[in-house]
Amino acid sequence: MEIQTVGVVGLGNMGLGMAATLARKGFRVLGYDLSETRGAPAEAAGVTFVPVLNDVLLRADALVFSLPYARDVEAVATAEGGLLTRGDRKVVVIDTSTSDPGTTRRLAARLAEAGHALLDAPVSGGPSGAAEGTLTMMVGGAEEDYALARPVLAAMSSRAPHVGPSGAGNIVKLVNNLLVAAHLVTTGEALRLSEAAGLSAEEAVAVVNTATGRSAISEVMVPRWVLSGTFDSGFAAGLMRKDVRLALELAAESGVDLPLSSHVAQIWQGSRETIPDSADFTRMADYRAGKESL
Ligand code: NAD
Repeated sequence: MEIQTVGVVGLGNMGLGMAATLARKGFRVLGYDLSETRGAPAEAAGVTFVPVLNDVLLRADALVFSLPYARDVEAVATAEGGLLTRGDRKVVVIDTSTSDPGTTRRLAARLAEAGHALLDAPVSGGPSGAAEGTLTMMVGGAEEDYALARPVLAAMSSRAPHVGPSGAGNIVKLVNNLLVAAHLVTTGEALRLSEAAGLSAEEAVAVVNTATGRSAISEVMVPRWVLSGTFDSGFAAGLMRKDVRLALELAAESGVDLPLSSHVAQIWQGSRETIPDSADFTRMADYRAGKESL
């Protein structure tokens, strides 16, 4: 069945850009957010802001969720009088939130019983990738549901591989963000060492980025948001803390011991006083901050 109207639930740093991209690419887009302050920027981007959640859940041909936590995804997917009551068509939910595979599998089964589908489709690429339609998405779910969602996935992303069954997208996203969390800590420490030993962070990064210590953190994030001192990537430290916690919970459930990652998690969880949840996550690589920040 053709998808003409897409409902986007969660119009924050990521969801607003995704909704704007879908509108620009010809979909009719209905947007909902708990915060009505998201209405004006949504309307300015060609998105119809709908103040009642069920009006989006009952009218859209497909849904995109961009929500902070798994509990928000669950609340929206199972909202009373919402998607679970609908029998007019199969609705595919593309959940782009970084969530946990257990909740995803449970919700996917519940929606399937009601004749719908939930794909875990977490994203990488930040608010600019969302606004430009160049995200990398990693999709878990049944092959036929992936095929159904293809036009929407293609509009939002440069790449959206189907990585496996329900929950597989969440797994690979948590693996990715565990690496990002660690790289931010180690890159910040390495640059602090460089400055303390007499070579500026700028000079060190320029060389590292042509050598073997480089990463997406040193190549993209550090020049753009750390050396510049702007710290405005649009991803909150609190959300990264959630990702690290979910990765460690997945490790415990899977029976693997990750000693270095556990220490990285302690550094993230223990740094709230100097890097509050509302601060930008790139603050973790702030080599100018004292050791006490970690
Ligand atoms: P955000 O906090 O900017 O936006 C979340 C939006 O959801 C807010 O506007 C909030 O009001 C709304 N919301 C919360 N609960 C709701 C509910 N029950 N119903 C409707 N709206 C609700 O967060 P974000 O940075 O856009 O991130 C969204 C998701 O994408 C998170 O899971 C995050 O981990 C993930 N993510 C973010 C980035 C990034 O760079 N910002 C990158 C990749 C993945």
